[in-house]
Amino acid sequence: MSEKKIATTAVRAGINSDQHHGAVIPAIHLSSTYALKGFNEKGQFDYSRTGNPTRATFASAIAELEQGAVGIVTSTGMSAVHLICQLLNTDDTIVIPHDCYGGSFRLFTYLAKRGQFNLIVVDQNDQTALSNALAKKPKLVLLESPSNPLLRIVDIAAITEQAHQVGALVAVDNTFLSPALQQPLLLGADIVFHSTTKYINGHSDVVGGVLVAKDQALGEELAWWANCIGITGSAFDSYLALRGLKTLPLRMKQHQINANAVAKFLQQHAAVEQVYFPGLSDHPQHELAKKQQYDFGAMMSFELKGGVEAVKVLFDKLKFFTLAQSLGGVESLISHPSTMTHAGMDIESQLAAGITQSLVRISVGIEDIDDMIADLSQALDASQA
Ligand SMILES: *Cc1c(COP(=O)(O)O)cnc(C)c1O
Repeated sequence: MSEKKIATTAVRAGINSDQHHGAVIPAIHLSSTYALKGFNEKGQFDYSRTGNPTRATFASAIAELEQGAVGIVTSTGMSAVHLICQLLNTDDTIVIPHDCYGGSFRLFTYLAKRGQFNLIVVDQNDQTALSNALAKKPKLVLLESPSNPLLRIVDIAAITEQAHQVGALVAVDNTFLSPALQQPLLLGADIVFHSTTKYINGHSDVVGGVLVAKDQALGEELAWWANCIGITGSAFDSYLALRGLKTLPLRMKQHQINANAVAKFLQQHAAVEQVYFPGLSDHPQHELAKKQQYDFGAMMSFELKGGVEAVKVLFDKLKFFTLAQSLGGVESLISHPSTMTHAGMDIESQLAAGITQSLVRISVGIEDIDDMIADLSQALDASQA
């Protein structure tokens, strides 16, 4: 960031903004409506779907962190994805990655089936496939890096440059890293969005989303649609997410330390076939991750030896890794992509995407690392017995 560092922006968001009482922390404004000063004398806010002070504080904090012109807080991460679809007319084309978030994949494929736009699904690391897709002159190219659950990385700056050459806008799902670890707008993208449910709120007690546009006019167009279709986030969720945001850079530091230790531990364990983590030097896009990210994140997956039976034992024996979907909270979570996050994909598509029955995904939390390693160690040993 140019003037202020990320941690300063995150912590100072909304501080000293209360003109009435001098409250250090901004108040939560639950009112659905706002009084006019008099006939046709509108203030900054009139109705809470359109604008809300708490939501506006959170939106401008994220916009500043992502270095964009306009931030829009949405009710969920999926509603941020849906909001992007409003930019497409029925004859427009969108290009999405073959391994994007399952919910995004479902939304795009079902809307395309109903004729709302044309959809091209490609492996964006396959340059021929990508060039062929861009030759169709898409209106929008969606990127997601790192991907879920195999942590594949795509070159945001290089793809953005190619997309811009054919006049396409680029939108990046930055959920897996947060602005503390990657800033796609600085790599050239036009739009960045998040499920704030994950790292930004960070405490697994809000479902929400946010979208930031680099350009003022594009941001205003999207804000208009967000109000029109009614997907703006609630004041209460905005308040919680703003509170979570303050510790984002601090949390990410500890997530990072723990994730590196867990990845190295898994890599040398006899029960583990393969670890997928961009921080390991054998990750196919390790150098690219180093170039475009500030750190490697705290999501990883691995192939366990012994098939699904071993996976069951592992989950059973773990004490400090909760078997649950979602990610990015302070607590460590473990999941089985095939039967959980990616259950909506048929088995053939799962295998094509590299999702096997013995693949396990971890969202590494910020617990004491010695406890985490000891727990993993006993459970991995038991899984092979
Ligand atoms: C969770 C997630 C979403 C969807 O967000 P919700 O808040 O669950 O609606 C989108 N993209 C990624 C990468 C996610 O992890």
